[in-house]
Amino acid sequence: MTKPAYKRVLLKLSGEALMGEDAYGINRSTIERMVADVAEVANLGVELAIVIGGGNIFRGVAPGAQGMDRATADYMGMLATVMNSLALADAMRQVGITARVMSAIAIEQVVEPYVRPKALQYLEEGKVVVFAAGTGNPFFTTDTAAALRGAEIGAEVVLKATKVDGVYSADPNKERNAVRYSTISFDEAIAKHLQVMDATAFALCRDQKLPIKVFSIVKPGAFKRLIMGEDEGTLVHV
Ligand code: UDP
Repeated sequence: MTKPAYKRVLLKLSGEALMGEDAYGINRSTIERMVADVAEVANLGVELAIVIGGGNIFRGVAPGAQGMDRATADYMGMLATVMNSLALADAMRQVGITARVMSAIAIEQVVEPYVRPKALQYLEEGKVVVFAAGTGNPFFTTDTAAALRGAEIGAEVVLKATKVDGVYSADPNKERNAVRYSTISFDEAIAKHLQVMDATAFALCRDQKLPIKVFSIVKPGAFKRLIMGEDEGTLVHV
């Protein structure tokens, strides 16, 4: 059997990927399908860390949060990512994958705090590490948390899971002639005004020479195929 193309990766899942067709929250069959994909990769022996967003929960509370102080709303968003992380880790447990959730915000009765050497130890032990509460700071996003943690743990790539199977020359839902880039450099992506990750996350990856791979989490088997080095999604390289 051919070997995986990566040894250690950071997977960024958006919270909204957990909603499935629902308006908000966590859709059971969606999370189960996602975890089955994650398990396939974890079982290949790839060291896997995950950052998950909170959009699916925060969306549900957003109407009540209108007019709120931005930092307070952001802390609510970070707490939403803790809920998603717990749900994800538990869904992994149900399929026999050992996962550890580590939070950037102290909430020790629920989740252990993020401590970098501990995270590295878990990864070396073959456990999946889920980084909760984003960066722990308001005014940031979980994309930035993914870039930050990816750099900290020495991941070879940040895998940005989306609903689209890569970066396109134009919006593939609107432009029939839009083409998918198989690879593109950071500089080309900037010059072409292509949206890959939020600007802070993108700049951090670029500075740290940490490649980003954008791929579809809804396309069956895509996650494993890209891990095996097949032409899936778009690789943004230095
Ligand atoms: N958030 C934050 N700091 C972080 C990460 C997240 O303040 O480091 C807040 C922010 O309000 C954000 C929310 O948490 O809108 C949920 O994260 P995100 O929007 O990145 O989730 P996704 O869109 O990927 O589901």
